[in-house]
Amino acid sequence: MSSTVAKQAELYSGKAKTVFTTDDDGLLILHFRNDTSAFDGEKLDQLDRKGKVNNQFNAFIMGKLEEAGISTHFERLLSEDESLVRRLDMIPVECVVRNIATGSMCKRLGVEDGIDLNPPTFEFFLKNDAMHDPMINEYHIETFGWATREEVAEMKEITFKVNEILSKLFADASLLLIDFKLEFGRHADGLLLGDEFTPDGCRLWDADTRERMDKDRFRRGLGGVVEAYEEVARRLGVDLVTAA
Ligand code: ADP
Ligand code: UDP
Repeated sequence: MSSTVAKQAELYSGKAKTVFTTDDDGLLILHFRNDTSAFDGEKLDQLDRKGKVNNQFNAFIMGKLEEAGISTHFERLLSEDESLVRRLDMIPVECVVRNIATGSMCKRLGVEDGIDLNPPTFEFFLKNDAMHDPMINEYHIETFGWATREEVAEMKEITFKVNEILSKLFADASLLLIDFKLEFGRHADGLLLGDEFTPDGCRLWDADTRERMDKDRFRRGLGGVVEAYEEVARRLGVDLVTAA
């Protein structure tokens, strides 16, 4: 792999990250911004340090996943708030595993908030903001050609494996991994885990107090959002560099 890579054009700017092409066709730069959104972009804010914290948090988690045998798009950190990744043909489906019921599942099914889900459960959502990311099933994915049956099986298998690896990692830091969302994409090397794993896309509760340490702090206006992300990072041993 080349040691230097030049940033080129902006390819896409999403709700929290901007994606840039590089002088290498196979590589993209993800810029993690401070922008934070919830409720399909209805609630928006800029949170100081969030981009830097999430970029470095994501690098740490992707490294742990690679060590545990999960193939990801992650190449390396480029700066405090930018990472180099392999370019994927993204599958427009979000894979969610839940260990404890909360959030949209409680609203949808009327189940009690906070109950253990045993075995952990799995949901697919269509990545489509205009449609409010509707829940979909495996038949929809195959029928509408969002992914093949084989890719669906592989995404489920990898997401459950990630759940096992990360539940243990967080438990060792006195944190409960409540639920999380993953995105996958196609690469010549096969299906790879893409996008990010940060407290923006998962729920983490303190194991003793059940205090929320994730983006629910923002959704619920609890304050101390980035401080909670930093505390999670500190407990995991992430070496954060967030100079101004
Ligand atoms: P959103 O699009 O949901 O608002 P972001 O602001 O995080 O999300 O934007 C990042 C975008 O980059 C997402 O659409 C994501 O699917 C896409 N993406 C993530 N990793 C890769 C990759 N390796 N190759 C191509 N696209 C990627
Ligand atoms: N999630 C995400 N992006 C989305 C939807 C959900 O990262 O577009 C994550 C969310 O942070 C949580 C899990 O997926 O960890 C399950 O979210 P849920 O369906 O409960 O959605 P919400 O209550 O946020 O609407």
